[in-house]
Amino acid sequence: MQGTEKNDRINIAIDGPAGAGKSTVARMVANKLQYIYVDTGAMYRAVTWYMLNEGISSENPDKVLQIAQNMVIELQPHENGQLVLLNGEDVTPYIRSHQVSSEVSRYAQIEGLRNQLVDLQRQMALRKGVVMDGRDIGTTVLPDAEVKIFMTASVKERALRRFNELGTAEGVSLEQLELDIATRDRLDQEREVSPLRCAEDAIVLDTTEMSIHQVVEAILSYCTIQKDGEN
Ligand code: C5P
Repeated sequence: MQGTEKNDRINIAIDGPAGAGKSTVARMVANKLQYIYVDTGAMYRAVTWYMLNEGISSENPDKVLQIAQNMVIELQPHENGQLVLLNGEDVTPYIRSHQVSSEVSRYAQIEGLRNQLVDLQRQMALRKGVVMDGRDIGTTVLPDAEVKIFMTASVKERALRRFNELGTAEGVSLEQLELDIATRDRLDQEREVSPLRCAEDAIVLDTTEMSIHQVVEAILSYCTIQKDGEN
């Protein structure tokens, strides 16, 4: 049975470790389905960038929370992906720096901050038609998402992808990126609140040997199977 367009829409959760290619793939899937893409990592990054600028350490969670509670974080669709606005300012150019990447997992461990961002993420997905990527989307943010994907790839491959993306602009070596990614994996997996883990009902995609195109096609086919199953 064909429903209205609104009823046809589903939510798609894409989780996985750093550098697995989630955001590229999630954006492409969203474009293809004309869904909204929500990059939850960008939200944690925006908060981290702000705190680092203000000199507020992740070891002072009360202060972080006090400041974060008054922040307005918005995601806006853009032809090159997504803009992240913090208190109305476009912070997109700053949030992928090596410094933010190195520190973000420490701020992302703060429970109150997670609760605040998870609430915001759930609101964004209320009307369905969302592709959301992160670490805890299938397990915590949208446990009822109709399609859940857990994307991974070897640490070596993920570091190489990041290296090719960053280029030599920041002067970070491939070896350093490999170390950083392994550290971030560990912090994300070992934190107490909503650690990075695969939801029981998620489809695992090891993308080490897959092209972006193949991953996107695989996810789209799971969406079709899911929708056909509902009709
Ligand atoms: O996805 P991205 O690499 O931009 O995420 C940056 C960091 O933000 C992750 O390493 C993780 O510490 C945190 N994060 C999180 N939960 C999410 C998304 C990101 O803890 N849903």
